[in-house]
Amino acid sequence: MAKIAMKTPLVEMDGDEMTRIIWQQIKDICILPFVDLKTEYFDLGLVNRDRTNDQVTKDSALRTKELGVAVKCATITPNAQRMTEYNLKEMWKSPNGTIRAMLDGTVFRAPIMVKGISPFVSCWKKPITIARHAYGDVYRDTEYRVDEAARAELLITYKDGRTEKQTIFEFSEPGVVEGMYNTDKSISAFARSCFNYALDVKQSLWFATKDTISKTYDHRFKDIFAEIYENEYKDKFEAAGIEYFYTLIDDAVARVMRSEGGFVWALKNYDGDVMSDMLASACGSLAMMTSVLVSPDGNYEYEAAHGTVTRHYYRHLKGEKTSTNPMATLFAWTGALRKRAQLDGLSDLEDFANRLEKASLDTIESGTITGDLNLLLDLPEKKVVTTEEFLQAVASRI
Ligand code: NAP
Ligand code: MG
Repeated sequence: MAKIAMKTPLVEMDGDEMTRIIWQQIKDICILPFVDLKTEYFDLGLVNRDRTNDQVTKDSALRTKELGVAVKCATITPNAQRMTEYNLKEMWKSPNGTIRAMLDGTVFRAPIMVKGISPFVSCWKKPITIARHAYGDVYRDTEYRVDEAARAELLITYKDGRTEKQTIFEFSEPGVVEGMYNTDKSISAFARSCFNYALDVKQSLWFATKDTISKTYDHRFKDIFAEIYENEYKDKFEAAGIEYFYTLIDDAVARVMRSEGGFVWALKNYDGDVMSDMLASACGSLAMMTSVLVSPDGNYEYEAAHGTVTRHYYRHLKGEKTSTNPMATLFAWTGALRKRAQLDGLSDLEDFANRLEKASLDTIESGTITGDLNLLLDLPEKKVVTTEEFLQAVASRI
């Protein structure tokens, strides 16, 4: 059988621990027998990041800006314990943070839904994708503990020396105060990423903030989205038969809970953080959550939402066969292959990505599963298998 050809290579970002093992198994068992795979390989495993002083991470992000599509394995974000474990030169920054900053992107997360695993919210029939603005607000704030009676002021000093000052609060007793910011540039990039993504997946876009209370800060988000929509996206949305819908965050939460899903929900940084975890747990498992970083100029980086599954890796090192769920990593590959196929006009490759996804969903729906799904999947006959056996079952269905 002739293998399916590729044109442009994918940027392949390898990673750490259990997901690094699964990475190789997915390629060997589910992709290489069928596709003449073309990638530019970057080893983002912690050992190589340390060896290259993290240059490899930056190189891989730069190459993604040139080639357009990357697929990334989960990576360790070093902490004090990892410094000793890997004898690191430095506590290197989170690769995801570095890549996100370089691509200026927005992260989209969506659950992989299968028959037999029903969301705890029973009306959700289609996946809800969360688009989280990953810049500024409370994650880059400045905070003070005020110990005694004091006046807290907000002072803006312009380049030409002009100033503006407002009293935040006259403290008559101890308390706390916080200052945070965002930029028009980052909010605009966030908005364009969301509009592009919604067009891509042909789903309506919801956006919500608390602009009635935050009349300048949150209102700026609302205005930027509205302006960009009117000027750049309205016609495209109408042609695609989807809509852009703005509402207050509390109204959005109430509507989401009564919806059947099937839309993209854009959220400010903190709201997105909280709602991602709500969505993930309502849908059952972190191992069934996909994640893609989309930059405003149309570059894509696909990955799993979970980490390197360290506990399973230590069991693997002892020689045990683990039953780690490869679905999210597999969907990172299919997402990247499908996007590459669409950009290069390769219908065979697109068809392969779709078939690989369907084969993996069918495998689960027929009862062949990894251990984490055992309690979640509502089927009379289930068989828990190792990761390798699961991938072989998937491959045999392609
Ligand atoms: P994790 O790797 O997501 O794993 C947490 C737990 O969730 C696992 O121990 C496992 O539970 C379960 N789990 C997650 N993915 C699974 C899968 N595919 N199949 C089956 N079970 C799964 O998170 P972590 O332990 O907090 O972090 C481990 C390392 O990953 C850290 O070094 C962290 O820096 C890194 N990390 C990387 C990324 C990324 O690259 N995007 C994201 C998050 C964390 P049981 O052990 O109970 O089976
Ligand atoms: Mg969180």
